[in-house]
Amino acid sequence: MEKVVIVRYCEIHLKGKNRGYFEKVFMNNLEKALTGIRHEMHKPSGRYVVENFDEGRAEEIVERLRKVFGTHTLSIGYKVEADMQKIYEAVKVIAPQEGTFKVETNRGDKKFPLNSMQINAQIGGRLLDDFPSLRVDVHNPQTVVSIDVRENGTALVFGGVVKAAGGMPVGTAGKGMLLLSGGIDSPVAGYMIAKRGMKIEGLHFHSYPYTNMQAREKVEELARILSTYTGGMTLNVVSVTHIQEAIHKNCPEEMMITLLRRFMMRIAERLCEKSGAQCIITGESLGQVASQTIEGMTSSNAVVKNVPVLRPLVGFDKTEIIERSRAIGTFETSIQPYEDCCTVFLPKHPLIRPKLSEVEAAEAKLDVEALTEEALSTLETVHF
Ligand code: ATP
Ligand code: MG
Repeated sequence: MEKVVIVRYCEIHLKGKNRGYFEKVFMNNLEKALTGIRHEMHKPSGRYVVENFDEGRAEEIVERLRKVFGTHTLSIGYKVEADMQKIYEAVKVIAPQEGTFKVETNRGDKKFPLNSMQINAQIGGRLLDDFPSLRVDVHNPQTVVSIDVRENGTALVFGGVVKAAGGMPVGTAGKGMLLLSGGIDSPVAGYMIAKRGMKIEGLHFHSYPYTNMQAREKVEELARILSTYTGGMTLNVVSVTHIQEAIHKNCPEEMMITLLRRFMMRIAERLCEKSGAQCIITGESLGQVASQTIEGMTSSNAVVKNVPVLRPLVGFDKTEIIERSRAIGTFETSIQPYEDCCTVFLPKHPLIRPKLSEVEAAEAKLDVEALTEEALSTLETVHF
């Protein structure tokens, strides 16, 4: 009896002709998530089975694979010889000793002497004999004991099902540039888009020495957490110190954030060209703060020429975003106190509804191209 982990995937089967490609990307992502754990991965029809690992690491394998987008559910089970006595021995290990259950068999090997109904009846009957507090409930059982008789003379036996992240395999929906601040929202935005299969690259702006190293370490930690879902992630770090100083010196105080956002977008678009990213992703939510009005978004979109700006959180309440941030494990890091570059030279009364013509007039005082290029020359990249 050998311990195995069964991985079930979702949505991928919807992809018709592309199915082979989706499965290949998915399998690569599963393999990447298991880096450092000895194992073998097999793919009998419709699922993946991880085998031949050190049995003490089964929980860790489940924990890692749960986060791989495309994974629907997981189970820890056993692989045994396809023989009723051997199957029952494994069933006895995973079955509950009380409450309700049903046995469900999938007979891939049509030559197996019993059909699935007979297997269910025999295994269920033996369980009832051995555990008098168990009852069968075929409609709403507390536990489903599953048996999968395979064509190669083995059978898989498994019980509990762990829900996984769902979504689509990262790498099947292009690549995006995520504006990653140290706040609560942007990691959630990145997670949501990655979950739809998009590979994510991060871009963080700092205003060192006005912002400190802790702020940067915090963003690196957020990128590291995100990378456990996305199978690795590159973080670009760019200084906007000189841009902020130039705005502060030459433009109306209340336009600091509006103008800074436009620079962020320009820099993001240039990095998209460089890295092959096909969109910019932000954590903005309509009306959440003064700069996140539709006018603010119009002003920042106006400088982006060739890629769409995705704002997956645009219709979310802060409480909903916080819930998600807790669920994906970024919340505790996000709430550590820090100075974002947006809080440097923060105006007392930021412009809430910037008019594009006025923004452009204020910006005309700056050498936009030189400031953008200078910021890009500070680019550092970190890989997670
Ligand atoms: P977050 O919690 O994501 O920081 P927020 O509610 O603090 O969002 P803002 O600070 O207005 O909102 O930022 C809006 C969006 O702009 C962020 O979600 C992020 O995508 C981007 N952004 C803001 N500051 C930075 C930064 N320093 N580096 C990279 N992107 C940033
Ligand atoms: Mg912020």
